[in-house]
Amino acid sequence: MEEPDNQSLQFGREFGNRGQCNPTYFTVGNLIKYLVHLRDEQGMSYEDIVTNYAFVTAGGCGPCRMGMYATEYRKALRDSGFPDFRVLLFTRSGDVEDILMEGLGLNFLTLIKFFVLVEVGDILNTINLRYRPYEKIPGQADELIYKARLQVQDAIIAKKGFSRALYQARKTIKSIELDRGMKKPMIHIMGEFWAKTTDGEGNYNLFRFLEKEGAVVSNETLTDWLLHQVWRAKWLSKRKDKGVNRVKNQLILATVMIFIRSSFKILCFILGENFKLSNHAKLAKLAEPYFDIHVDGGEDHMEVAHHIDLAKKGEVEMIISVKPFTCLSSSGVSDGVQVKVCEDFPSLEFLAVETNGDSATNFYSRVHMGLQKVLARY
Ligand code: SF4
Repeated sequence: MEEPDNQSLQFGREFGNRGQCNPTYFTVGNLIKYLVHLRDEQGMSYEDIVTNYAFVTAGGCGPCRMGMYATEYRKALRDSGFPDFRVLLFTRSGDVEDILMEGLGLNFLTLIKFFVLVEVGDILNTINLRYRPYEKIPGQADELIYKARLQVQDAIIAKKGFSRALYQARKTIKSIELDRGMKKPMIHIMGEFWAKTTDGEGNYNLFRFLEKEGAVVSNETLTDWLLHQVWRAKWLSKRKDKGVNRVKNQLILATVMIFIRSSFKILCFILGENFKLSNHAKLAKLAEPYFDIHVDGGEDHMEVAHHIDLAKKGEVEMIISVKPFTCLSSSGVSDGVQVKVCEDFPSLEFLAVETNGDSATNFYSRVHMGLQKVLARY
């Protein structure tokens, strides 16, 4: 589906309950917007829509409001006239069964395809973010990355020629003309999962705003988040599983981790880049003196760990932690700990900002002020 926009937010607010996090309004509203489009603009019958379409999304039991997403989807679907539409959840509880998504009845091959496609998407998005600030012809990076995406998409739909499509995509990417003559500051975006990965109105087009101001975005990927979930499941299994079960689960999860890492590396190589995934065991060690890693929810300890890791590596000039208004795990927990991390690592600028779909001016003004300190060095 297309990136959620402000029209999705309006649909979400119209059919959702009050007091939800704004990713709920954007994502639930985006689904309703799409179904209404199929029904009213494409003339598809209700029966065809509920038979031929389903929506798969991440869910969880909390501890934050993420636990309410599934109910929100169902409420909004019922109230907007699609009561029988199927919403399937995969949870992030950390159980091995959930990592394997047995509830969806996926077989091993489907799971592998799922991981590979997520990785391709992540790599293409990251290339776009790294190239866009240096493109010679305005708009060319967006245009050609979109073309590369379609090349891969066509192969997926045709169910053949996937490797060839990747090489075609590489050629397309290489034709983007770049001028890296001017040095630009690198700004790392972290925070709540949806707000930090959205490249659109859901975070007030934060990435493009930073690029317009003369910065380059360093992003976090869905692959890295999935890798963290597998690491979390392995960490939990080490503590609670016994005997043969423990050995079996440790082996399965170690294999999944190796698969994610090596396939990501291979895909990066094919697409002509060399992006790195995080070492989650190392991140947990870095976070431990600041954050109880048993605390589970949102990004877990990852925001704090990434902050420390980036401060030590010195690869970025500033961190912007973006999250929906009153996000329980990011604003309420991680940002409390970040105060101490900022004290201990003062050389790296850190800014926490909230989004709620309105008041873009306040948001831009805060980002702008933080950014000035960094841009002044260039
Ligand atoms: S992580 Fe934050 S924004 Fe996302 S569902 Fe939880 S409380 Fe809401």
